[in-house]
Amino acid sequence: MSTPATAATAAADPNETWRTRYAAAVMNTFGTPARVLVRGSGAHVWDADGNEYVDLLAGIAVNCLGHAHPALVAAVTEQLGTLGHISNLFTSPAQIRLAETLDALVFPGARQASRVFLANSGTEANEAAFKIARRHGGAARPRILALEDAFHGRTMGALALTHKAAYREPFEPLPGGVEFIPAGDVDALRAALGPDVAALFVEPIQGEAGVRPLPAGYLEAARELTTAAGALLILDEVQTGMGRSGAWMAHHLLAPGVVPDVVTLAKGLGGGMPIGAAVATGEAAQLLGPGQHGTTFGGNPVAAAAALAVIDTINKEGLLKRVTELGDRWAARLIAVPGVTEVRGVGLLRGVGLADGVGPAAEVAAELEQRGFIVNPPRPDTLRLAPPFILSDADADAFTSVLADVLAERAAA
Ligand SMILES: *Cc1c(COP(=O)(O)O)cnc(C)c1O
Repeated sequence: MSTPATAATAAADPNETWRTRYAAAVMNTFGTPARVLVRGSGAHVWDADGNEYVDLLAGIAVNCLGHAHPALVAAVTEQLGTLGHISNLFTSPAQIRLAETLDALVFPGARQASRVFLANSGTEANEAAFKIARRHGGAARPRILALEDAFHGRTMGALALTHKAAYREPFEPLPGGVEFIPAGDVDALRAALGPDVAALFVEPIQGEAGVRPLPAGYLEAARELTTAAGALLILDEVQTGMGRSGAWMAHHLLAPGVVPDVVTLAKGLGGGMPIGAAVATGEAAQLLGPGQHGTTFGGNPVAAAAALAVIDTINKEGLLKRVTELGDRWAARLIAVPGVTEVRGVGLLRGVGLADGVGPAAEVAAELEQRGFIVNPPRPDTLRLAPPFILSDADADAFTSVLADVLAERAAA
């Protein structure tokens, strides 16, 4: 589905020229990226100098079907050519079908009691969940708990739930009432909970913190303790959801008995189209009433059609099974690489721990990029892998062997 003419035009200037233009035109919130990408196909992308890369990050756990997947391109093109945007003064078959599908996907068995709010990003999905939490118990429950090292987004409400001081402090005062407790510590959670707590926000695996899983049993304990305290359990599956763990939701895999009150989604949901969702069940599904929340774009027909195509394709191509099989096989090979200390995470969300002598991870990531592999360093001792679900065995193995070379060279240097 690529269009050579467009790609050629886009690539007419080399990487460095584009970077200079970027720096002169774009706000400096990200630093100037090293590469200007012009085209993608499957698990591969190309930069403006014509270099090819295996994309093992997938737009940060977004492009689950890879780049330019024909089913996604067709669904988006067809919807945009039929009805592109209508606002939430109207609804569309695509929006309604997606809502029904997500209710059943996130809460199998409780679908009748579940309702979805469609937004445009992960941070917005969490803003909706934050407002649901505020509505739960009202003034009698002013406190909200989140975990140390949590990442929930960059808008003011989601930022209030995000732990990293460097992200938060320049923007204080943030919405109040949020308290951080040590991640994975059941006693700390028990001590913090009380009748004045509205909700606990948890990522089943802390992605931005370096793909850090919670200890076994934590989600079960969190469900039991929040229920006893009358507080909502809100799971942020923005990064872990939509099949990345090998199950539709990571909590289905990691804590199968646990039914949260709210689950937030985004990244993989649209396969690259911007969309987010807060999916709630039971009482939590009824807490936002008419006029209490809104969005112009949220749930727009094109984004909804994209999400439906992603879900359909994951089903048709058996990609959940693929994620589990490739993820397990790859992790077993990666842990055998000298210089790798551990491989955390599940499915195709992995944190590769690096030994002291071979880091920092940012330098390792830069060398890997030079050799044609895109990964990122969420921590100084960790590389993150979050590739498309359609990644081939050959590409995964090629990475493992290049990683082994890079780490061996760095250990020897
Ligand atoms: C990426 C992420 C977010 C924020 O999503 P955006 O789409 O960047 O706003 C929130 N929570 C988690 C767990 C994430 O990984």
